[in-house]
Amino acid sequence: RHDPQGGAHFVEDESTKIFARKVADHYSARSNQTLEEREASPIIHLKKLNNWIKSVLIQLYARRGDAVLDLACGKGGDLIKWDKAKIGYYVGIDIAEGSIKDCRTRYNGDADHHQRRKKFTFPARLICGDCYEVRLDKVLADDAPFDICSCQFALHYSWSTEARARQALANVSALLRPGGIFIGTMPDANVIIKKLREAEGLTFGNRVYWVRFDEEFSDKKFKSSSPFGIKYTFHLEDAVDCPEWIVPFHVFKSLAEENDFELVFAKNSHEFVHEYMKKPEFVELMRRLGALGDGNQDQSTLSADEWEAAYLYMSFVLRKRGQPDKT
Ligand code: SAM
Repeated sequence: RHDPQGGAHFVEDESTKIFARKVADHYSARSNQTLEEREASPIIHLKKLNNWIKSVLIQLYARRGDAVLDLACGKGGDLIKWDKAKIGYYVGIDIAEGSIKDCRTRYNGDADHHQRRKKFTFPARLICGDCYEVRLDKVLADDAPFDICSCQFALHYSWSTEARARQALANVSALLRPGGIFIGTMPDANVIIKKLREAEGLTFGNRVYWVRFDEEFSDKKFKSSSPFGIKYTFHLEDAVDCPEWIVPFHVFKSLAEENDFELVFAKNSHEFVHEYMKKPEFVELMRRLGALGDGNQDQSTLSADEWEAAYLYMSFVLRKRGQPDKT
């Protein structure tokens, strides 16, 4: 199905489209929460921890004046993080119309209940579209090249077929300048498969999340299956309930290399926290965000169940080969 020359000349089968729509409808239907609702969420500390991880990635790799491409930007939850990094331009794309609408509202500073704030200093373009189905280089010809691309908690939605996974990486590669950076956070396939194998049936989880694999994977070996299209259902209390796909890391790495990327690092969220909590500036950021509360095992801090859910994710940093133009 994949045409290595042309990239986007493939036929999407009906079920792929239906699943992409299911994902889009799921996110579109999630309305904005009030600050009170957000604070009462059973995964509030996990959300804060994930915001800390994204902030650390942005602070480590964004430079003043950067042109940023935010793939699957959602409701624009990272706009403030990019603003703090003093970026010069922002393009956000998401498949969910409702989320792009909320993102636009947040960018325009209207009715933002999370933080009433001044307008953002950078110009932005917000687009509703499927980042994994079509070539984006034509759509974004006037905006490229970008210095940095971010895809947070969303790249795994491209892994439903080989064509989509390839299109996702080809799009990022085509839009980044030489030496440009691609940062992201996605489910850690090694952890998910390990937990599946340890589980009695095809489901595992705790009070805040569950993962359920389809019957077709009941041997839990995945030896004969393609590394694409390994579907499971993911439920995260108060956040996610939709089909997702395993991203086997070695396949991700080799597709990235085929697309002119080199791996800077990949770290499970637990390892990420341990590593960057050694740096005082990120400890202070964690304190400000309140993800780990005051360290006591009460409701003011991350619960053991949330910490286990955090273990399901990993972050990666890729660098596009080549030297940036010296101008
Ligand atoms: N990146 C945002 C963040 O970190 O707050 C949103 C993350 S949310 C868990 C996943 C997002 O991926 C949703 O907004 C969803 O609509 C988007 N998404 C899923 N499939 C997509 C696709 N094919 N193209 C663009 N966006 C997609």
